[in-house]
Amino acid sequence: MDYDVLVIGAGPAGYVAAIRCAQLGMKTACVDKWITPEGRSALGGTCLNVGCIPSKALLDSSHHFSDLQKHAKDHGISFENLNIDISTMQTRKAGVVMSLTKGIEMLFKKNKIKDLRGKARFVSANEVEITAHDGKQSVVSAKNIIIATGSVPIELPFLPFDHEYVVDSTGALSFDKVPPRLGIIGAGVIGLELGSVWSRLGSQVTVLEALPDFLATADRDIAKAAQKILVKQGLNIQLSTKVTAAKVENGAVTVTYQNSAGEQTAQFDKLVVAVGRKPNAQGLGEIGLQINAKGQIEVNDHCQTNIPNIYAIGDVVRGPMLAHKGSEEGIMVAERLAGQLTHVHFDTMPWVIYTTPEIAWVGQTEAELKEKNIPYKSGSFPFLAIGRARAQGMSDGMVKMLAHAETDRILGVHILGNNASELLAEAVFAMEMQASSEDLARTIHAHPTLSEAMHEAALAVDGRAIHM
Ligand code: FAD
Ligand code: NAD
Repeated sequence: MDYDVLVIGAGPAGYVAAIRCAQLGMKTACVDKWITPEGRSALGGTCLNVGCIPSKALLDSSHHFSDLQKHAKDHGISFENLNIDISTMQTRKAGVVMSLTKGIEMLFKKNKIKDLRGKARFVSANEVEITAHDGKQSVVSAKNIIIATGSVPIELPFLPFDHEYVVDSTGALSFDKVPPRLGIIGAGVIGLELGSVWSRLGSQVTVLEALPDFLATADRDIAKAAQKILVKQGLNIQLSTKVTAAKVENGAVTVTYQNSAGEQTAQFDKLVVAVGRKPNAQGLGEIGLQINAKGQIEVNDHCQTNIPNIYAIGDVVRGPMLAHKGSEEGIMVAERLAGQLTHVHFDTMPWVIYTTPEIAWVGQTEAELKEKNIPYKSGSFPFLAIGRARAQGMSDGMVKMLAHAETDRILGVHILGNNASELLAEAVFAMEMQASSEDLARTIHAHPTLSEAMHEAALAVDGRAIHM
């Protein structure tokens, strides 16, 4: 065999798996087919090239712009003709992406991982044919193979991407000017994050969502509060809306949709379709890998497929499509190959939506606990009563903690607020340690910090918040 392990795909699932395998002494190779629009191959997958990282770069740039526009005067800061140069913003984004993707190349070198570029296809359970970008083919063999081929955007059958007017998230990350009227189908994570970016920069954004509930998987209190704030910021969020047709003519997209008021039409300069992503399990060769009805590669709890030496991790298998979920699965598979008994705790998977304020949670929602008849206590605390949040001028939102009514074990923590993504880590750790709300209530939190809201929410579970 050429290698102990071959990883197919160098996104956050695959590259992390490769590094951990190499750290554990396995002779490791990783193959990836990614090509940038400039024709350069790149590591990092969706996350680094067209996902987590570029979206956060644009969220950051657009946040600076809108914050200055709306709040500079509160601090006594004044200026004339505040402007944003979209081309500079996009160049900065590309620089951030490039530095991180190059960073993975260095990590591969440092860990002596063979960095193969090209499209992989199974020839047998131990052999993979690689078609390099110049068309040259070769076959490599490995004792174990980890599939980490990720996911791709879902296309609506009546609305194919033309990548000019009707675009996916990648298109929406690359606009070279602010579209005056931006339509987005799907009020999910991508719809809200990229809708926020372009709305902050001046687009009139309309988000068309099929479901009647806003952010159906989030806790209801948090989702309702977030919806109010996002609408106030300018996002026109239309729920219970079924898009039935769309037509591109005269440089604009006309969308026809049904809602409670009947059939409606709207015109947009750009239309983003963000209705979810689908696993990328196609074209891997016919070796009898079991694929389920959702198109995911079927795996057991430890990411092993029906072919014992082949594993699959990340977006291409069941579970949430989150970068950190795939990375944890990659570490688990590597460690299990090395004989360790590692697990991934799906119950403590963090979720973050990077709007302003951010929406972040771990564990179960109140609705889920009710449905399962789990007795619980709830404690909430608003950032309005937190000194640091007031000093920052960002006091929207709250922390809501749910704990078991009898054992006090924390069952879920839901945050809407500035820096919720970072605050959540404490809750994830607490849940990982099977902590009680009393544990967090007894943990000393520095003053003045946003984390005091977590402390107060823990106290509130037992009706003893101090600052309310
Ligand atoms: P991918 O990152 O999709 O990587 C798969 C890799 O496999 C690719 O590099 C591809 O080229 C390669 N590949 C596929 N087939 C083959 C083949 N046959 N041969 C060789 N190589 C192949 N998640 C978060 O957790 N936080 C966020 O903030 C976040 N933001 C996002 C924003 C956007 C706009 C998008 C689109 C996604 C975002 N995600 C976010 C989701 C996150 O990007 C994915 O969950 C993550 O990238 C999945 O990792 P993966 O390694 O499974 O797959
Ligand atoms: P999503 O599943 O988050 O949201 C899709 C939304 O589209 C849902 O609200 C759904 O009800 C709606 N929808 C589906 N079909 C529709 C239709 N025909 N008409 C109108 N609405 C429709 O998916 P996404 O926003 O496309 O994101 C894809 C994946 O990428 C997600 O799984 C997400 O986990 C991941 N992602 C994560 C982050 C993050 O962690 N911050 C950011 C971006 C993307």
